[in-house]
Amino acid sequence: MVGNKTLLEVKGLKTYFPLDEGLVRAVDGADFEIQQGRTLGVVGESGCGKSVTAQSILRIVPPPGDILEGELLFHRYSKEGDAFSMADVIDLAKLDPRGREIRTIRGNEIAMVFQEPMTSLSPVHTMGNQITEAILLHQETSKAEAREKALDILHRVGMPKPSQTIDSYPFELSGGMRQRGMIAMALSCHPSLLIADEPTTALDVTTEAQILDLMRQLQEDLGMAIMFITHDLGVIAEMAETAVVMYLGKVVERADVDTLYYDARHPYTQALLRSIPRITEDRRKWLEAIRGMVPDPYNLPSGCPFHPRCRSAQGECREVEPPWVEVEPDHWARCILYADSTTATAQG
Ligand code: SF4
Repeated sequence: MVGNKTLLEVKGLKTYFPLDEGLVRAVDGADFEIQQGRTLGVVGESGCGKSVTAQSILRIVPPPGDILEGELLFHRYSKEGDAFSMADVIDLAKLDPRGREIRTIRGNEIAMVFQEPMTSLSPVHTMGNQITEAILLHQETSKAEAREKALDILHRVGMPKPSQTIDSYPFELSGGMRQRGMIAMALSCHPSLLIADEPTTALDVTTEAQILDLMRQLQEDLGMAIMFITHDLGVIAEMAETAVVMYLGKVVERADVDTLYYDARHPYTQALLRSIPRITEDRRKWLEAIRGMVPDPYNLPSGCPFHPRCRSAQGECREVEPPWVEVEPDHWARCILYADSTTATAQG
């Protein structure tokens, strides 16, 4: 059954960029799981490592960045009737980023959509050609059949007049249509995991709502898992069942979405939640900004990297790396305030 099987396990992921200015620890200890057919939200401010985590999974980290440590265990299943059984587990972190194996997985079993479709769509090829190419790359089929499949997927993503837009160039389409086109391209090979990196951030609110509805509908129809990356906690509440919060390359809290909203434990998550408007609150009340700035990535604070901005910081927070603590079943936080818990670990 879809939804109770692990699809991807990210364990102790560290992806660093050795630059002339210094070492950037873009991802510095990420641990989470994605379940088959479910949505995991990944939330945090810009520069927190959300996108580099996604690039690490697909092995498209731009040089000189590289995975230094950790496992990315991708579980494959075979389906007989309605039942899934485990076929194999592959550690994506161990694959050659330019090798044949990851190229077969990328775009086929794991696909990605980006914030700005024009960065991944070719301006000199029609939508139809680009979707057809993606299908031909991964499936044994004729050109004519691939075009039929492209037309079908454009229908599915609600592209207006698909029989005409299939021959349109991306620059001839609106932002919402381009995003539908990119989702069509990503879904053309029926991936088991779709990574969506801020897919609605550049869209107006009406188009954003349509694209979010579309993604939910497609997930229901196709049974794929979604890793939804965003800075917007409101979008996470709509889209995801579980979420991780990242700060300066580390996952600082992990829980199901309701728990995260109503019982956040990490001071950074609590600060993020105080900074978003709530319909039940007095409209004249000012929203709270998180004090201070995101620190310079070349010069991270000692101890807990959130300590210069944390209202609950204690003396120790400047020196000691906070433990990764299971504060209640399936709810984890990286904070010294919960260090007494018996499930605290040094790393996480
Ligand atoms: Fe704040 Fe200290 Fe917890 Fe870091 S470890 S979040 S500084 S209380």
